Amino acid sequence: MEATLLHTEDERKLIQRAYRKLLRSIKTEIKPEDKRNLRAAYELAVQAHSKQRRKSGEPYILHPIEVGRICAEEIGLGPTSVVCALLHDVVEDTEFTLKDISNLFGDKVAMIVDGLTKLQDLYDVRSPQAENFKKILTTLAKDVRVVLIKMADRLHNMRTLGAMPKHKQLKIASETIYIYAPLAHRLGLYNLKTEFQDLCMKITNPDAYKEIASKLQETKLERNRYINEFIKPLTGELDEIGVPYRITGRPKSISSIWNKIKTKGVPFEEIYDLFAVRIIVDVPLKREKRVCWEVYSIVTDVHTPIPERLKDWVTTPKANGYESLHTTVVGPGGRYVEVQVRSERMDEIAERGFAAHWKYKGVDSRKMDVFSTWLDGVREVLENPSNDAVEFISDFKSNLFSEEVYVYTPKGDMKMLPKGATALDFAFSIHTMLGYRCTAVKVNNKLEPLGYQLQNGDQVAVITSKNQKPSENWLNYVVTGKAKSKIRSVMREEQRKRGEFGKETLMRKLKNIKADFETNADEVAKYYGFDARPPLYIAIAEENLDLSDLKKLKVEAGKIIFKKKAPQVDHIPPPSILSKSKKKYTGTPRLLINDEEANHFEYSLASCCNPVMGDAVFAYITVSDGIKIHRTSCPNATNLMAHYGYRIMKADWTSSENASFVTELVIKGVDGKGVAQSVTGAITNQLGLEMRSISMDGDQGYFEGRISVVVQNTDQLNYAIKYLKGMVGVSSVERVD
Ligand code: MN
Repeated sequence: MEATLLHTEDERKLIQRAYRKLLRSIKTEIKPEDKRNLRAAYELAVQAHSKQRRKSGEPYILHPIEVGRICAEEIGLGPTSVVCALLHDVVEDTEFTLKDISNLFGDKVAMIVDGLTKLQDLYDVRSPQAENFKKILTTLAKDVRVVLIKMADRLHNMRTLGAMPKHKQLKIASETIYIYAPLAHRLGLYNLKTEFQDLCMKITNPDAYKEIASKLQETKLERNRYINEFIKPLTGELDEIGVPYRITGRPKSISSIWNKIKTKGVPFEEIYDLFAVRIIVDVPLKREKRVCWEVYSIVTDVHTPIPERLKDWVTTPKANGYESLHTTVVGPGGRYVEVQVRSERMDEIAERGFAAHWKYKGVDSRKMDVFSTWLDGVREVLENPSNDAVEFISDFKSNLFSEEVYVYTPKGDMKMLPKGATALDFAFSIHTMLGYRCTAVKVNNKLEPLGYQLQNGDQVAVITSKNQKPSENWLNYVVTGKAKSKIRSVMREEQRKRGEFGKETLMRKLKNIKADFETNADEVAKYYGFDARPPLYIAIAEENLDLSDLKKLKVEAGKIIFKKKAPQVDHIPPPSILSKSKKKYTGTPRLLINDEEANHFEYSLASCCNPVMGDAVFAYITVSDGIKIHRTSCPNATNLMAHYGYRIMKADWTSSENASFVTELVIKGVDGKGVAQSVTGAITNQLGLEMRSISMDGDQGYFEGRISVVVQNTDQLNYAIKYLKGMVGVSSVERVD
């Protein structure tokens, strides 16, 4: 079957080699039946994709084979999942149908392939990403394998994104960072999450990525020497425990280092915990906890621990199943070093997440429960979705992706809620009625407001009253999906009642002017600027409308004759309509938007990130303010692209001489002998830049200045930053994001 003319001899060898590698990567037991299915799936996929090539030019079939390998080797899934991975693009891209798959491989495989087909190429669909996200979660609730295989698919696509055009890369990256990375985290797939984040950073922030990567490389030898020095005094005592163990010292991921640089405002050189030391012991389940603490005791005998940094996820695993003992100690030379202690089983779960859990299913059912509890939560959110998809997604993210807090009922039962949950959330989590009637809460025997944020270990008692009922502003006091959806449903019921009242009022008024209700209701709504009847009813009930207007209109045979009024609609005009409209910028074009000269569009530079010529940028079609140009590293970019991917257009700078851009710099330093003055002097004199605004703050010999300057392009800007950084007394110069 492989003998298709479209693959060359070399390619056929490549494909067979990839398939053999895939088979070797399956670590779970392969029954003869599995073997037959794998072979059949492989041959079907080869045939089905024989005419396709990837963007990079290589035979398409290499993609499903590689996805299968990632499933087996990096996620730890078994033969059935590999079969599905091999078939994941078959129904979508070729003439084979789901029926064929079901006939050949059975219903289970067909169901998973169907789920994967529905999740195909989400980023290309012209619908908000939130809808796509919902789709992913729906399949997740049905069979987790669908999402795990989808992750493998996304990972391989991300790894091979280079062949795609830049603006597509950005869209895919933003969706990955918004949906797949948190999902991977939540499913305990730490390796995947980290790789997703790194691959995205490589696309959205290539310069910072390259810089950190090369610095990590440069400091590798020194780091290894230090780790050896740290480990050496431990080994003797560790040997004495008498169990096999291994120690690793791996650097943290590039994206997490970058996060630290940004949030802590320190340069690479000053980040002390660039790596974590991991001690993994090979012991039977029964002895795990005891041995982990024994190792902890040995480590802290040699290196002084920092007590606040001790985290015990061995006794109480994280909600995503993560188990490990973390501590930070003071290592040689006074450097802080994070040490993680865990068993081989815990390590496998930490590396592979969900799939590894299945392997240990039945080993300890209490620990398995964290996943079923979470999946129950997913189903619950799906059953009570709010109308707005964007709201839904943010509910979901704040609930099911976040870390958790543990609190106690007055009887001492432990309850797990997402971090940031409030006392009112707690009430709703126990029982819906308890939430509705909650008037006050006592936390650790002290009265607290309903919006009190729960802390680990709090004991919470709910005080209720029969006369209490939820109000709109309760939505501000809760974060959990359950509480929100319950409060919203009460609000909707209230609205319905108000709507009914508004409807009755309108009926009465129409009757008074001898106009028929059914004939006129839609027109009346339009007349007052509503696109449907319900919001009209509510506006009437809330007395926001002056219905006496209606009396002035003519009525003929029960029908009101309306004077024309422009409907007020809020829609996004497609770019073709905007095209050649008002010209905001004349003169030399500075940008190409979707390969067209930008001055055909009404566009402006986004004020949140102030792009400068030379920055990587994209164009975003706003609802009412034309096209905005953002930097790809803009803090809003991920959000925009993930939610409104269909409004993104590509934008490129074109060369131009007379361009000028305003950008803001934050300059920090020691205010010894008038450093602030010499900085501003340098900007105007040595650098010859125009300053737009300036604010300086000084405190106890330290100063921080925010200066807006006008530059022509990023080269000029980078030169200025470098120059200012080199000045005496200046400790950092950052461009404002
Ligand atoms: Mn695929």
